Amino acid sequence: NRQLRLKTRPEGLVRREDFDLVEQPVPALKDGEVLVRVLYISMDPTNRVWMRDIPQYLPPVAIGEVMRALGLGRVVQSRSAQYHEGDLVQGVTGWQDYLVLHENANGYVRLPADPGIPLPTLLGAAGMNGVTAYYGLTEIAPVQPGETLVVSAAAGSVGSVAGQIGKIMGARVVGIAGGADKCRYLTDELGFDAAVDYKAADFKQQLKAATPDGVHVNFENVGGEVMRAVLSRMVIGGRVALCGLISSYNSTERPSDDFGVFVMKRLSMRGFLVLDYTKTREAVQALGGWIREGKLKAEETVAEGLENAPEVLNRLFDGSHRGKLVLRVAAQ
Ligand code: NDP
Repeated sequence: NRQLRLKTRPEGLVRREDFDLVEQPVPALKDGEVLVRVLYISMDPTNRVWMRDIPQYLPPVAIGEVMRALGLGRVVQSRSAQYHEGDLVQGVTGWQDYLVLHENANGYVRLPADPGIPLPTLLGAAGMNGVTAYYGLTEIAPVQPGETLVVSAAAGSVGSVAGQIGKIMGARVVGIAGGADKCRYLTDELGFDAAVDYKAADFKQQLKAATPDGVHVNFENVGGEVMRAVLSRMVIGGRVALCGLISSYNSTERPSDDFGVFVMKRLSMRGFLVLDYTKTREAVQALGGWIREGKLKAEETVAEGLENAPEVLNRLFDGSHRGKLVLRVAAQ
């Protein structure tokens, strides 16, 4: 059984030398175990994240551990009543030829011997990546018919499905990808309404031209400059499904923004303006009640004199006030 074990944490792009290729005999099965011949390994951007010793949604792969990866294999020996020889199994296979799997292990799906879908598709559009796109566009940032959806890394696995789901849902879909060939693929083969090449010098102008009504939904896979450009095109009330930030996965430094934590911790952040609030009367009543009951302390710093307005305004920025800063301009 050949295994690739993480030897050193890569810096930048992953190198072969970051892994030990070890060869080990396939272990004898115990009761309840099956031996799975790994057939396909899913190559995922998150694999690169798992190699990094940073806070994330799963423990990083430890040095010396078989590299974690999703994959698909076929049962070649079974000492389990639940799995039979020939069954297909999908789940974490790791970077190795064979996997010994216990029948009670969590996170594995048994598929019929002939699932009727090409096996690589089960790892992509009909598997985890397709589900990612579907989840993002149905629950995280639903897109409505007629709205403009922008998808980054649009020619990749998640992005290509996200864009096509957007079309199925009746959105106007704009894909962002690197290079003219990928852009043509998006429009000519996948039916996107427009495609924008983020590697082109006039990327921002292209994006602007492709989104004349602004962007209602951004399915974001890239982050960094690409995301910044899309955010600048968002309409009021737009939605962002923050799926991934691949542009930072190889970097050795922590990115200057904190968007990664939004993905890892499934955070939501929603900008708002009080002027949109429709329950102002109710809020003022509640606040006044709490103040009268002594539940809410109201503090003001009162400065004097209309002529002092400019200097007093600056106190907001040097912190030399507490609570609400007001200017008294006349006696009551
Ligand atoms: P892809 O098949 O999309 O491959 C990655 C693509 O990203 C590349 O083909 C490349 O396309 C583009 N890319 C790479 N580096 C950069 C860069 N620096 N700037 C701009 N584009 C870049 O991979 P996946 O579909 O598997 O993953 C896409 C995204 O979805 C990733 O961010 C991944 O982490 C995320 N993801 C999130 C999940 C979740 O549960 N939140 C689940 C699965 C994936 P190009 O040629 O156009 O540059």
